[in-house]
Amino acid sequence: MEGTDGYKVLQTFISSGLHGSKHGWPTLVYALTLCRLNDQSVCLYKKNRGRHHAEDNMLSFLKEAIVNRLFLSQQLTMYVNYSPCHNCSDLIVKFLHWAELHYGINLQLEIAFPALYRIRRPSCEEEGHTHKLADADDHDRNVKGLERLKGIGVTIRPMNAVDWSTIARGLNVPFVYEGSARQQEDAVLHKDFKRVVDREEGGMNDLVPMLRNVHLRGAVPPQTEDDAFDMSLH
Ligand SMILES: [Zn+2]
Ligand SMILES: [Zn+2]
Repeated sequence: MEGTDGYKVLQTFISSGLHGSKHGWPTLVYALTLCRLNDQSVCLYKKNRGRHHAEDNMLSFLKEAIVNRLFLSQQLTMYVNYSPCHNCSDLIVKFLHWAELHYGINLQLEIAFPALYRIRRPSCEEEGHTHKLADADDHDRNVKGLERLKGIGVTIRPMNAVDWSTIARGLNVPFVYEGSARQQEDAVLHKDFKRVVDREEGGMNDLVPMLRNVHLRGAVPPQTEDDAFDMSLH
């Protein structure tokens, strides 16, 4: 898990969701975890392949490890360069139930990410960013998926400084976070996340209907073919 692959994985995380000239939905997603497997500390990552999203591939790997008694931990942090989509959220819920029911593993799962997948960010709207926003229905579905995860006790949160040093160390790639554009973006993402997903603290329950109105008024351009691409095809 070192060398060019590790560099590519870290770069993918760093560049995810940064606002700039090109702002689209991801074609490459990694799910990464540092865990103990068969009594060894490992940094492993899975990417999206075919129709399987990265999280799906990571869950398949973990399932096999659990079945073979290689993975016995009760705690796991999964880093994904985009927040799980609603389908993956459901797969994660099912996986946790499966692990508990069949193997007695009451896994305390934490999911950390540097970008939101097909979720509208208040900062993008308020600062008048010109890139396309997520479709309002996608937004609803994906926010609800994350809420389902929260509802069963999964911790979901944007990545912080400790996370960045953890994955950089795991991948064996140097990364200076302090003062980086990534750090600035994370500060904005934390605020957006609080308003969109962690709403009980933010008191922004009216945000989603507000976004929906924006959509219905036609302020958002209709979705084009390339905006609706399936990331699993890449
Ligand atoms: Zn997914
Ligand atoms: Zn933006």
